[in-house]
Amino acid sequence: MPDAQVMTVTGLMPASALGVVDAHDHLFLRSPALPGDEFEDLERSAAEAMDGKTSGLGAIVDMTPIGLGRRPNLLRAVSERSGVPIIAATGYHRDAHYPAGHWVYSADVAVLAERIIRDLEIGMDPDDWTDPSADPDPARAGAIKAGTSYHHASDAERRRLEAAAIGSGQCGVPILVHTEIGTFGHDVVTILEGFGIAPHRIILAHLDRNPDAELHAEIAARGVSLEYDTMGRTKYRPDSELLDLIEAVVDAGHLDRLLLGQDLGRRSSLRAYGGGPGLRYLMETFVPRLRRRIGEEAVDAILVTNPARAFALETASA
Ligand SMILES: [Zn+2]
Repeated sequence: MPDAQVMTVTGLMPASALGVVDAHDHLFLRSPALPGDEFEDLERSAAEAMDGKTSGLGAIVDMTPIGLGRRPNLLRAVSERSGVPIIAATGYHRDAHYPAGHWVYSADVAVLAERIIRDLEIGMDPDDWTDPSADPDPARAGAIKAGTSYHHASDAERRRLEAAAIGSGQCGVPILVHTEIGTFGHDVVTILEGFGIAPHRIILAHLDRNPDAELHAEIAARGVSLEYDTMGRTKYRPDSELLDLIEAVVDAGHLDRLLLGQDLGRRSSLRAYGGGPGLRYLMETFVPRLRRRIGEEAVDAILVTNPARAFALETASA
């Protein structure tokens, strides 16, 4: 697909021009599930993106969904200041990220889907859909987020998966699904297939939190992308474990299904906010080790070729 395009917050661009893609990260975020760990400062987030770029990142997929402090105008500003293309997300997270009484629990599938589609086709709501009459930001989303819980999906999460499927079917963008501790992966694929979604449009996030290479090879064999993002999570596990996992999944024949992100969803994970490991960690620390494990060509597939394919738009209306 030499002409494949992706939708960034500053408009369409060729997927082949993205370079190294951080397939799951966050530049602005606020969640009741992470009190005190919000980050919403333009200067600091722009500095973090610059730091990532200096380390070798070509583009960032910002997976902050509706209701978690998504800021389309600030994403545009970060992209313009840093020169880093940013693909933004619409869609919804799992239940734990929304307070009781939030509209994402009560809205029917049609409303949930309508908001996703407006974010994709017209421009993202400027303020997390707190005021549906607000004018959309010019920045359009280029991917859809969804989320499930530990070994299950609630009824509300299933409605949001259906809305994601409607949006993906209409607008030709992929769906990235948060899995909790890497669980419920097969089920998510089955549910989305039931809504008419082709496996190659599905990305399962955080599967490496359950680093079970046999399970991952099985899921990858269904044609789904697996997004890993535990590098630098040293308090939970050493990077060597993720290197082992990637090597095993590659050896099982699924190199083409792997994506890497960093998912730095906390203020305390970002260097520009005084924490770490920061956006530079992937390219500066992890990737050199990965190159020694699986070689340059395989690393390029994971960082460049696979995300260009995974995030490419697939409809004429794009
Ligand atoms: Zn995330």
